[in-house]
Amino acid sequence: MADYKYVTYETFDDGRIARIMLNRLKTRNAQNRGLLVELDDAFLKAEADDQVRVVILGGVGPLFSSGHDLGSEEAVAERTPGPDQHPTTLINGGTRVGAENRMLQEWHYFFQNTLRWRNLRKITIAQVQGTTFAAGLMLVWACDLIVAADDAKFADVVGARLGMCGVEYFGHPWEFGPRRAKELLLTGDSVEAKEAFDLGMVSKIFPREELEDSTLAYARRIAQLPTMAALLIKESVNQTVDNMGFYNSLQATFTLHQLNHSHWAEIHDGYPAGLPEDGTPDWRSAPKVMPRQVDVADPHALVEA
Ligand code: ZN
Repeated sequence: MADYKYVTYETFDDGRIARIMLNRLKTRNAQNRGLLVELDDAFLKAEADDQVRVVILGGVGPLFSSGHDLGSEEAVAERTPGPDQHPTTLINGGTRVGAENRMLQEWHYFFQNTLRWRNLRKITIAQVQGTTFAAGLMLVWACDLIVAADDAKFADVVGARLGMCGVEYFGHPWEFGPRRAKELLLTGDSVEAKEAFDLGMVSKIFPREELEDSTLAYARRIAQLPTMAALLIKESVNQTVDNMGFYNSLQATFTLHQLNHSHWAEIHDGYPAGLPEDGTPDWRSAPKVMPRQVDVADPHALVEA
């Protein structure tokens, strides 16, 4: 894959640090199929390059990623027969029907790719600003370290807006803790950078205008480690959480995710998510995501008052 359309790839320090940027400003870095396939290619390119020690994953513009691309013209064209249909919608289950099609396509392009990036043989750093929504969390969680701008927020709105039990790579309980995971999924409220730091999910918070430079400086520090030590540190932690059940619970919750899609598809003539008549507001006109607050039951009430 020569030129990327939806991501950028650059290197620093004689190739020791690679930086991949999601580059779809007009959709707030929504993840269409083209972007996900290019992102996989870029990650594998960094992995193959023995000079690269650390990979930074960021996003251009005001926010890191608005999640999966559900409705842009490009995304619709990618899954519709015609000149702009993406070739990957015709392989890996794309020509099968019903739940088999959806399960296989999501397994390949939402779930296994995220797991592959999580297991990349390089240290990865997510660099985030603004609100990271839903599937944006999967990209962030796949990285070894998460560095945030002071305006960063994290929210999975798929429960509140689509009637879904979270995203395909169900990292929520591992990142937020079980109760906070339930709260965030049931309300759609967001966690701010400082709380994500206190939870251990975010390791540094930088002023927005210093995010890129400070992330590079952090990457340089990590890149000084011997590559063998860095990889075995990563692998020791990853194998520990895998033995605690991380890998198996990801597999299990992926099947629950597919059950949830199938439920809606059965009711809605193939449409695999909740609709306003089910109590989930249309995602285009849904109330703004609000930060969770300790002493306020309904933060939206404050805005509307
Ligand atoms: Zn899904």
